[in-house]
Amino acid sequence: METTWMARGSCANSNPEVFFPHDGIGVEIAKQICIGCTVTAPCLEYALTNRVEHGVWGGCSERQRRRILKERRAAVHAGRQKDDLVAVAA
Ligand code: SF4
Repeated sequence: METTWMARGSCANSNPEVFFPHDGIGVEIAKQICIGCTVTAPCLEYALTNRVEHGVWGGCSERQRRRILKERRAAVHAGRQKDDLVAVAA
């Protein structure tokens, strides 16, 4: 997976510990740094694809990423059900 975007992140010269906070305040501090970052999309996709469970990636907390993955699974499931209906109707 492409990772050259990492060097362009706003966090490239930050203390990595900032992005692995222990509480909600720490999460918000990390997310504030992500707001101005130009590589939030590939960063978030990297974390989602690799099922990175810890830390703030792409401006999203662990909880937010779990929710995105859940929504994606639901969308895939819904798409399959729709395909099944079309196949039955054909
Ligand atoms: S989105 Fe956040 S965690 Fe990802 S590279 Fe940018 S600043 Fe770093």
